[in-house]
Amino acid sequence: MTVTTRFAPSPTGTLHVGNIRTALHNWLLAKKAGGRFLLRIDDTDAARSREDYVEAIRADLAWLGLAPDGEERQSARFDLYEREFARLVASGRVYRCYESAQELDLKRKVLLGRGLPPIYDRAALALSEADHAAKAEAGEAPHWRFLLDRDQPIEWNDGVRGAQRFDPAQISDPVVRRADGSWLYMLPSAIDDIAMGVTDVLRGEDHVSNTAAQMQMFSALGAEPPRFAHEALLVGTEGKLSKRLGAMGMAEFREAGVEPEALAALLARLGTSQPVEPIAERQALVDSFSLDSFGRAPARFDEAELHRLNAQIVHQLPFARVARLLPGGMGEAAWEAIRPNLAHIGEAADWWRVVTGPVAPPSLDDEARAYLATAAETLAGQEWGDVPWQTLTGALKQATGRKGKALFLPLRQALTGMDHGPDMAALLPLIGRDEALARLQRAAAPA
Ligand code: GLU
Repeated sequence: MTVTTRFAPSPTGTLHVGNIRTALHNWLLAKKAGGRFLLRIDDTDAARSREDYVEAIRADLAWLGLAPDGEERQSARFDLYEREFARLVASGRVYRCYESAQELDLKRKVLLGRGLPPIYDRAALALSEADHAAKAEAGEAPHWRFLLDRDQPIEWNDGVRGAQRFDPAQISDPVVRRADGSWLYMLPSAIDDIAMGVTDVLRGEDHVSNTAAQMQMFSALGAEPPRFAHEALLVGTEGKLSKRLGAMGMAEFREAGVEPEALAALLARLGTSQPVEPIAERQALVDSFSLDSFGRAPARFDEAELHRLNAQIVHQLPFARVARLLPGGMGEAAWEAIRPNLAHIGEAADWWRVVTGPVAPPSLDDEARAYLATAAETLAGQEWGDVPWQTLTGALKQATGRKGKALFLPLRQALTGMDHGPDMAALLPLIGRDEALARLQRAAAPA
């Protein structure tokens, strides 16, 4: 069977970095197996779901290069849920309940007070048809619970957590449908996973107890459950799921100049035993992806690490990848000269301005100006050639006896207006002969 994974966000907000990590892992898991990665929009909650969030989710996935091989929307699948639900009603695996939130709360408190686990007592199972009829007569609509089979221990071999075992007697029968007919997340999700041929459900460990109940839903619906894997959650550097982390979305990363390659390289490896490396090639992340390397400890997300990784990735990006992001006229040679100095691609424009000028002449002492006058004469008299910087500095070293910083720094200052920057050997050919000469002469002129 083709490995099929899905990413199933609810469009009630924008994706945060933790959601994106889950999406990436599902994509990697599918691609590693030559399988399919599906997007499922979990929009059963019409009041809270928004179309602009759906658009934003698609845009974020596209930005990160996680193109789905198919998309489904739960709001378009209510007929299917009705049909499957009717089967569960017929087989007695869902049942009608009427307790209010306050009544349930009271029951829970009583149990906890007696030192017992707060499991729903299944009181509604004892209702007769006459009782139901009376409720209907009184205008009370039921909500529905899924009847767990308490004789069947729930077991699965989790792709991250290993052997899992739950006693269904320790779990409340989950509510699957509200009194107004609307769906809670668990049952539609299981129905869809079956209908969409999902073979692997990889999600956060906050879903482990849902999985326990859903294991039985798959069986009740007549299907083999998919393989399940629950990854440890993402936490901030302070070690907890911070507000900041929960709010951190793709828009913020994009604005900060974080490249999708950097975010993917970090999120692919965070929380695994594999090192975080500046891997710009997506296929390399696919090839090395393995659930076996996932740890049980929370994965720590560190913004500083992301920015370091981003710089390392930018230094590798080929011209073709970045060309449309660069200022007009900036070509491949300029990109390659400038890229080692960048933390973000956006900074390329600043260095390109150093090439195109005008640059502010530095304020220099008499000695430095005299040296630059010599440099201007030397440059004027020399063949430009393929390696003008080497030719110029070689000649100046001979003529002046200068070396190291004394030889190079005044030239850099005169030619770029700065004390540091890209390799001058690469920069000088970009500046060009006439402009270089003019800059040297200007810097050499008396103050
Ligand atoms: N819509 C669910 C959520 O956002 C999906 C969980 C799942 O992957 O099954 O939590």
